[in-house]
Amino acid sequence: MSATCTIGIDLGGTNIKGGVCDERGTLLTRQSIETEADRGVEHVLQRMAGLVEELLRATGLGRSQVDGVGVGAPGPMSHARGIVYSAPNLPGFVDVPLREQFAALTGLRVVLENDANAAAFGEFAAGAGKEVRTLVMLTLGTGIGGGVVLDGKLWRGCFDNAGEVGHMIIVPGGRPCPCGQRGCFERYASANAVAERLCEAVRGGEDSVLGTRVAAGETLDARNVRAAADQGDTLAARIWDETCFYLALGIVNLRHLINPELVVLAGGLINAGPRLLEPVQSHFERQSWTIAPDAPRIAAATLGTDAGTIGAAMLARV
Ligand SMILES: [Zn+2]
Repeated sequence: MSATCTIGIDLGGTNIKGGVCDERGTLLTRQSIETEADRGVEHVLQRMAGLVEELLRATGLGRSQVDGVGVGAPGPMSHARGIVYSAPNLPGFVDVPLREQFAALTGLRVVLENDANAAAFGEFAAGAGKEVRTLVMLTLGTGIGGGVVLDGKLWRGCFDNAGEVGHMIIVPGGRPCPCGQRGCFERYASANAVAERLCEAVRGGEDSVLGTRVAAGETLDARNVRAAADQGDTLAARIWDETCFYLALGIVNLRHLINPELVVLAGGLINAGPRLLEPVQSHFERQSWTIAPDAPRIAAATLGTDAGTIGAAMLARV
């Protein structure tokens, strides 16, 4: 076994995923356990440490053969200070010095990273972006998580908060966002926003095959909207197309700011495949300039739910 393996841990509110990677980002083994977040910080850290032991056992590696552990955690957090400031899905995770505490528990060097950044770095190191040097990743889920890799390095910004693309304002005075702003990108182009906007339109009196389910108070998701659009529902098709429009608008702005070679789309919405990528591409071409040949390629992520684990492991490399 190579002496340059690292471990990646992807800490989520429901599951903790872990894996061991070689220097190319290949997962040698991986496991997922329940977080049991309601049992508090100490318990969660112990479970993470137990997972590290399991991964070492599964690969037969000793501690001396592991260069470090990368932990991707929900934020806001500080990579530089190794502290999770606040994690809404992890009760008690307020100002937790996770890097120090986890290093003490595992006897390994620990690197703490924002989970969206870790996922972006995973796609850069071993996924859709392994042939490029500069990319932006957008994870389209509950919100929009982002990560920026510039010339081979994760860009964290001066306050460790770069890549919060979900809160770029895309509609002045638009839909309110829990962050306190109005008109944030994620209020228009995340998976959750697709379903929310359809429900609002139905409540506002518009017709849809989903109308009775909305009236019954059922919780709908983006898949329901996509399926309704496939059945010929005009409202669902319009909401889906508007989502692709806003997504393309965000990508136009990121093109001009970052000038990336690749924009990687990840998260729940990419399950729609070409029904997402094709309209996003055509809206992008319609809205973006043609005066310079600097358009990024727009592609789906390839690592799925392993991106965060692989990225965390690769960020732990010395
Ligand atoms: Zn916001």
